[in-house]
Amino acid sequence: MKTTSTVIRVLLLLIVIPSLAIFFINSPIAAQEDAPNIMIIHSYDLSYQWTSGQDEGIRTTILESYPTANIYTENLDSKRISEAYIMSTQKDVFVDKYKNIDFDLILATDDIGLTFAIDVREQLQLNVPIAFSGVLENTVAKLVGDAKDITGVYEIRGFTRMIELMRTLQPEAKKVVIINDHSSSSKQLVEKILIAFDELQLRDDYVLEFWEAKSYADILKDVSTLEPDTAVYLISYFESADGVIKDGTVFCQEISAVATVPLYSLGENYFGAGLTGGEFLSALLQGNELGAIATELLAGTPVQDIPYSSKSTSYLGVDENMLRKFNLEKIVLPEDTVVINETHSFYESYRSLIWSVLLAFVILIIFIGILLKQRRIINRTNQSLRKQKDELQDLYDQVATSEEELIVQNEALLHYQEDLELKTIIDQLTGLKNRSALEAYAKNLLANDPLYHQKLLIAFIDLDNFKYINSNHGHHIGDIVLKQLSNRLLSLGEAYFVSRVGGDEFVIIYDYTHSTAERTIAEVLPSLKKMFALPIKVGENSISVKASIGYSLYPEDSQDYDELIIFADIAMYEAKRKQRGSTMRYTESLEKLFDNEYKMLNEIEKGIANDEFYLVFQPIMTLDGSQVHSFEALLRWNSSCYGPVSPNEFIPIAETGGQILALGDKVIDMAIDFIKMLQQNEQKVSTVSINISVVQFYEADFVSKLLAKLKYNNIKNSMIQLEIIESLMIHSYEIIRTKLDELKANNITVALDDFGTGYSSLAHISKLPIDIVKIDKQFIDDILEDKEGQLIIDTICALTKSLSLKTIAEGVETVAQLDYVKKCGCDFIQGYFYSKPLMANDAIIFIKKHQQSLKI
Ligand code: C2E
Ligand code: CA
Ligand code: CA
Repeated sequence: MKTTSTVIRVLLLLIVIPSLAIFFINSPIAAQEDAPNIMIIHSYDLSYQWTSGQDEGIRTTILESYPTANIYTENLDSKRISEAYIMSTQKDVFVDKYKNIDFDLILATDDIGLTFAIDVREQLQLNVPIAFSGVLENTVAKLVGDAKDITGVYEIRGFTRMIELMRTLQPEAKKVVIINDHSSSSKQLVEKILIAFDELQLRDDYVLEFWEAKSYADILKDVSTLEPDTAVYLISYFESADGVIKDGTVFCQEISAVATVPLYSLGENYFGAGLTGGEFLSALLQGNELGAIATELLAGTPVQDIPYSSKSTSYLGVDENMLRKFNLEKIVLPEDTVVINETHSFYESYRSLIWSVLLAFVILIIFIGILLKQRRIINRTNQSLRKQKDELQDLYDQVATSEEELIVQNEALLHYQEDLELKTIIDQLTGLKNRSALEAYAKNLLANDPLYHQKLLIAFIDLDNFKYINSNHGHHIGDIVLKQLSNRLLSLGEAYFVSRVGGDEFVIIYDYTHSTAERTIAEVLPSLKKMFALPIKVGENSISVKASIGYSLYPEDSQDYDELIIFADIAMYEAKRKQRGSTMRYTESLEKLFDNEYKMLNEIEKGIANDEFYLVFQPIMTLDGSQVHSFEALLRWNSSCYGPVSPNEFIPIAETGGQILALGDKVIDMAIDFIKMLQQNEQKVSTVSINISVVQFYEADFVSKLLAKLKYNNIKNSMIQLEIIESLMIHSYEIIRTKLDELKANNITVALDDFGTGYSSLAHISKLPIDIVKIDKQFIDDILEDKEGQLIIDTICALTKSLSLKTIAEGVETVAQLDYVKKCGCDFIQGYFYSKPLMANDAIIFIKKHQQSLKI
């Protein structure tokens, strides 16, 4: 609202300021002197345009400077009253009438006015100047005589500008008709016109015709038949040759009505009466000029200092009606030309009105614009106010409800906190305590036992084949296995603090303060083992799990929690390395071992990258030793760090560290190279046998990768034989069965290595697609002394025979051993007795020595 009132104020100022300015500019500023008395004496009556024009000119000019001047006017009407009467009777009346008035100035128009003025001044004995207008230059001297203090404006007529006007409007004109009467003044004017033609040197350009002698009827007749290249000059006319008297205006109107060409004249009285144009002596300008002289005289300029004025008081005038009638161009006229009957365009006629309306309109538009903007601002303000109000309401509602919500939220937070606390100590999958719960529990126990009264067993348990369960059965089965195992462990009772510390790693703390270490180890550990011994049923599958356990004792081994855990871990690691599924107690030497193994892991990795591994090949001979049946590929490592390292040492380490996979791949590649070498040397053996680690065998894509390699190298599948250790068989039966079937289907034979050392029953093995059984070297070693060993070999041989399996006796060094295995019916012999493992080249040489090779 404030802005609106400001706008109105500004608009009012816009309107008021210009109005005030106009008012002040127009207001009188000249200071008034004592009002002068002025006498004007006209020769003729004011009904004459010539006289009234001069009168108006004089008055307006004087009144501009002396608005309060007393102007007395007398007209002598000399057209109707005789000069004699004027100069006697009328003069006496005049003198008597004005004898008491103290005139400052006497003005006179035309001849008799001037004569009259000089006479009355003398008679009234007035010492004031006289100024005149409307008197021809050559008559002034005659009228003034020796009278003094007289000045004025000569009546000077112009003629050349009328001729120029004609030439401008009718450039094509060739003839000029001059219509005048026989009066002397008329004849004088005609003479002056001819002189003007001469002055302009145009006398020869035009044919001039003088119609002075024509009757009025002839004039009217002839003027109606003039050619277009003609112009007509109407010169002072009063009476025709045949005596027809015509008033000037009527004369002009009648001629114009019938004339075929434009009329020009010097008489202002014809202007507007049908005249096209002319050069007129202006009565008004005569009067203005006289008024200017009067003003100067009133201001005190001595009359002698004001000479007679010869300033031209004539002007050019045209009648636009007539211009239109004769199709004449107005634009070509001089700028000061007076135009009458002018038609203005709408714009010209109403220019100021149009501008005023436009201005008003613009102001209105601006005003409306401001109002609209104002309205918009108000709307917007209203909207935002409404919005703010809503927001305030919302805020209020929120505050009202926030208290209840806070209570609810607080409860939720408490629950969440409890939940979080649980999550931080509970393993989500199994519900067992997690690593940090274990740490907190154990550290708390140790902290509260400064004198080491307590006795604790810390067992680190790791599943041996969890990875295989995951990759062959899927992770969800793996999860089920873990959950079931966890439930079993929880069933051990409260004396056992059970935690899961990794994927398949568990740590159990058992407090045996009130017992002895020996008893605990004898009782607790077997019960732990039992937890893993039973296969786990998942749907129709029965999955066997094996765990390696390492343990440490508090306070004997260490009084520090972190150390105790690491020691148990090392022991577990060593148990796994020694024999999967075994249990081991931590000893100081283990720690060293652990360090060594860790170092070796790194060296193995380097060795793989540096090609420090290679294969040697040990011949497997027919029973009579006449032929090389096959070769066993055996891995060798000539380490840059350790020198030659036994596979018995580095393979278990590579298995726990995972490097066995890369190594195993390399072994297959090198074995394939050896087969190619054999083929190139045209040496035929039945197979090349490759040792496969459990870790490799459980890889999901092991078989397919092997087949792809063979195919790629264009080697018959039957050239390969795989050796897997017997202890493998006690793992997940289903997986092994599937893989063995797959191998058999692809003509790859499988030998069961180190037979007799594992737990597997022969009945169990009989169901598996195995081709060869290798009797472990330990039975061969003591074969002559060990009666029990002999029995085992006898049994194995009998059994394999009944199952149509072949047997290889491994590690045969002596003739006695050879004889024994021959006796019990072994099929093939492998051992130093025939040959140690050989480099590939030596193997070729060896085979060549035994010319023939046999097929089974
Ligand atoms: P293994 O599979 O039982 O291999 C037979 C071992 O007995 C070989 O030891 C061989 O050199 C040795 N041997 C053969 N005949 C005699 C003999 O008359 N007297 C004696 N004292 N020893 C004999 P090696 O080469 O040291 O291999 C040891 C073990 O390392 C192998 O036992 C096998 O389990 C493993 N191994 C060797 N190469 C590889 C391999 O490429 N991959 C895998 N996974 N394991 C391998
Ligand atoms: Ca072997
Ligand atoms: Ca073996």
